[in-house]
Amino acid sequence: MIFKKVIDGAGFLIGEAASAITDIPSNIVKREKKEILAIIKAESLTCTSSSCNCLATPLYTTRDKYKCIGCDRQFADTNHNIKNTVEAKYRGNDKESIYNSRVEYLTLLHRAKK
Ligand SMILES: [Zn+2]
Repeated sequence: MIFKKVIDGAGFLIGEAASAITDIPSNIVKREKKEILAIIKAESLTCTSSSCNCLATPLYTTRDKYKCIGCDRQFADTNHNIKNTVEAKYRGNDKESIYNSRVEYLTLLHRAKK
């Protein structure tokens, strides 16, 4: 039942993000979500907590802060400039909410696998 809850949660978050973007065709939003997910994975580090080793994703509004999707630990490391990377590539809608919904999605997926 915990797994079902996680899936419902993921559906809710995806719905939330989609409803915030009304002026962009859904196929483009879908493509951007996929590409932003790839950017997140490329820019992420491994959590520096010795027993964890999970993915630590860049925090959108910072230049050098990361948050682990496994243990929630937050730390500073090499500059990621994720906001500039995403916003230089896309214009016209709220990238921060898409970005954060993708991070939530990765976190829920990760926790569902445990
Ligand atoms: Zn961690």
